Amino acid sequence: MAGLQKRVLNGLFEEALHDSGWRALMLPPTDVFPARFQLTQGTESFTVSLYIWTISHGGGAARAAKEYRIQITDGGKSLTQFVPEQDGKTLIIGWWPEAQVFAGFDYAHHTGPLGKSPSIQVGEDALRKAATDGMAVHTRGNGEIVIAFRPEFMGTYVAQMEDLHKIGISEQEVALLGRIVSEPASVTDKEIGAQADPSHQRTMVNVRRAARAYRFSARVLVAYGHRCAFCGVQLRLLDAAHILPVAHPGSVDKTENGVAVCALHHRAYDNGLITFDHKSKIHVNEEAVAELKAQGLDGGLKQFTDGLRKQIVVPAKPADQPKAAIIRQANKHRGWKKL
Ligand SMILES: [Zn+2]
Repeated sequence: MAGLQKRVLNGLFEEALHDSGWRALMLPPTDVFPARFQLTQGTESFTVSLYIWTISHGGGAARAAKEYRIQITDGGKSLTQFVPEQDGKTLIIGWWPEAQVFAGFDYAHHTGPLGKSPSIQVGEDALRKAATDGMAVHTRGNGEIVIAFRPEFMGTYVAQMEDLHKIGISEQEVALLGRIVSEPASVTDKEIGAQADPSHQRTMVNVRRAARAYRFSARVLVAYGHRCAFCGVQLRLLDAAHILPVAHPGSVDKTENGVAVCALHHRAYDNGLITFDHKSKIHVNEEAVAELKAQGLDGGLKQFTDGLRKQIVVPAKPADQPKAAIIRQANKHRGWKKL
C-alpha cells in the first residue's frame, strides 16, 4: 500500500494533538521533511521534529505475518540518519490507517546511521490492542519499547515519551499501563505507588488523567448522538462538558454528569451566558445580556438566541440523562441563583 502524503500525515498529527488538548503550530519552512512544530498546553511548550510515515505490512514470505513497519524514506530515497531536534524532541511516528492508531518509536535506539533500505517494525498485536484499549506496548528484539496509541493520546505520548519508552522494562509496569488505559477509574494512587518505579509514577498518573478524560468524552458524545444538546450541530465541533464542573469536589466522570456541546455553546455555558434547568429548559442569562448591551458587545445576539433550542435534547438512555439534583447543584455553582 502506498503511504499517505506527508501533508496528510502532518495534518493527522496536528488533529490528534488538538483532540488531546494541545495546540500545534507548524514552524516555517512548512514544506520540509521532517516538519517542525511548536507544541503548547497550558504553561508547557516545546519544539518537536516530526518524522512520520504510514505503517504498512512487512510483506514477503520471509516476514512474519503479524509484522508491520515504517519504511524510512524521504521522497523515495532512504534516509541515512535521523537529525535530532536541537531545541526539543525528535518524534518517529507511524500511522496505521486500518485501525486508526499511531505507533511511537524511540529515537534513543535510532541515533546512528540507518543503513540500506531501513525500516522499523511493530507487532500487529500491539496495534490492535491500542485500538481497543487506547495504548499498548510492543517490545522489539533490540529492546526498544514501541508505544502504540489512539490519536487522543498523542498529547500524553509526546509529553511523556521519554518515560513511556522506558516503562516496558518491567512486565509489571506494562500490565499496569494496560489497566490504566483500559479501566483508568479502577487504578488507585496506591497501586501506582506499589507497582511502578518511582521515576515512572508521574507518567502513570498523567496517562490515567488523559484516559479518564478521553473515556468521559467518548461516552458523552455517543450518548448525545454526536450533536450539541443546545443547537444540534455536529460538524466535528463537539466537546463533552462536565455539568458539575471538574473544579467542584462533587464532580464525577459519569455520563450523567456530561453534556455534548458545540464549541460556541461550550464557551457560552462555561461563561454563564446559557444553561439548562432540571426540566431541560434552556435559559439565557438576561443580566449578562443587559451588561453586554450596555458595553456595546451584543453583536450577533439575535442569531445566537435564534440558534438555541427551547430545551436541550437529552440522551435516549435514562441512565445517561443528567439527574435533576446534579443540574440544580451545577446551576447554583455556576451562579444561576434562581434555578
Ligand atoms: Zn451548539
